[in-house]
Amino acid sequence: MAAALTMAAPMASPARRPRIVIVGAGFAGIAAARALRRASAEVLLIDRRNHHVFQPLLYQAATAILAPGEIAAPIRAFEARQPNLDVILGEVTSIDVSAQRVDAALPDGSVRPIAYDYLVIASGSRPSYFGHDEFARFAPGLKSLTDAEAIRSKILRAFEVAETTSDPAERGRQMTFVLVGAGPTGVELAASLSHMVHVTLRRNFRRIDPSQSRIVLLDAADRVLPTFAPALADVVAQRLTALGVELRTSSKVERVDEHGVVAAGTVIPAATVLWTAGVAASPLARMPGGNTDRAGRAQVDHCLRVEGLPQVFVVGDAAAVTQGQRPVPGVAQAAIQEGRYVGRLIAAELAGRPAPSPFRYFDKGNMAVVGKNFAVLERGALQLSGFLTWLLWACVHILTLPLLQNRIGVQSQWLWSYFSGQRSSRLISEPAEAGFKPN
Ligand SMILES: Cc1cc2nc3c(=O)[nH]c(=O)nc-3n(C[C@H](O)[C@H](O)[C@H](O)COP(=O)(O)OP(=O)(O)OC[C@H]3O[C@@H](n4cnc5c(N)ncnc54)[C@H](O)[C@@H]3O)c2cc1C
Repeated sequence: MAAALTMAAPMASPARRPRIVIVGAGFAGIAAARALRRASAEVLLIDRRNHHVFQPLLYQAATAILAPGEIAAPIRAFEARQPNLDVILGEVTSIDVSAQRVDAALPDGSVRPIAYDYLVIASGSRPSYFGHDEFARFAPGLKSLTDAEAIRSKILRAFEVAETTSDPAERGRQMTFVLVGAGPTGVELAASLSHMVHVTLRRNFRRIDPSQSRIVLLDAADRVLPTFAPALADVVAQRLTALGVELRTSSKVERVDEHGVVAAGTVIPAATVLWTAGVAASPLARMPGGNTDRAGRAQVDHCLRVEGLPQVFVVGDAAAVTQGQRPVPGVAQAAIQEGRYVGRLIAAELAGRPAPSPFRYFDKGNMAVVGKNFAVLERGALQLSGFLTWLLWACVHILTLPLLQNRIGVQSQWLWSYFSGQRSSRLISEPAEAGFKPN
């Protein structure tokens, strides 16, 4: 197998089908692989995790509404449905565009060179601390299931510490939650946390009243949801305030440490600080050597290729795609459309069909949910908010979950949580301990 993977046969060779290597099984990578399902080619999907994560619902896993497994799908489940697809669990560590090869670190510790005829980089993004990586230790970001579980444990543990401490100042610090970044993730997380402290945990403690918790949402911008229209952002700000969330806009974070946060000169003691601010592209976006933007995203042409490298494409959060003068947003829909486009383009080239016309992003609209029964939607000039928008949000998310089992699991958890106010995944996970310890 290893020998076969390292061989780079010429594309026209009748003995070997061309190989398309896709790095990353997120929204863009899966869409690209699916679009290649009928291509006469070997499609190799490499991811460092064995599962695809439905990131828009990560905040619900972080606040114990959903279990991590309900928003993830094993990547091998896609392999079972597509005969020309082969999945490899491994982390791509380097790309050699002149040799048309990537190196992948495999679970057994070895590094395997893998030759490609076409390469699709769909490795997404990671949290950006805007040059303050030292904040990461104290303010985790939300990108993976591991992050969601760590955040959930951190939140639940804070209440346990508050319940047992006799120091009022420490109790206040444990019951203060600061979220840095008032984009959709910060807004959704803050509203969900508010519901948790006011409803779910209401009668669960004897010495503390969780509804007295302080939830602070900070942003350096002068309003929440800076990418939405100002009128919708105002509606959301009012809603958050009604939910008891303390909004601090025009507040740039200056320090984050084990004591809490300093923002715009104000000290906020807090045991839990969460980073919901910007993202930067995965380091792989730089590796082909083309131009990148300030967030490290690869600049690609109108067919999503890296300039001068006809065999290399970058899609999803790792790519800087512009339409007219405007950047295509880093959202799931854009990633899916870009991945699908590149898959179709490669399939057309392999079959000798004319290439599709340049990529065009079709904006289906942006949504953000603000707690129970309320969401906002913006699509062009259309702006909606309220209960019906929330219902639409719920339907859209159910329908776009990757597998049927995810849809069934999420629906039943939502129904249970909606009517009972409870959350099924209130677990504090302990760090894994090695070995068996007798009692
Ligand atoms: C908390 C959160 C909430 C969001 N909410 C919304 C929302 O409500 N609506 C919306 O439209 N968008 C939302 N987004 C954005 C959306 O999820 C992203 O735009 C989308 O996931 C990008 O897809 P992608 O395929 O480019 O990258 P990803 O989905 O991030 O996938 C990248 C994949 O690449 C893999 N990978 C990375 N590096 C390597 C490597 N070196 N080797 C092998 N594999 C690698 C990763 O493991 C991952 O599986 C949210 C994002 C987050 C983090």
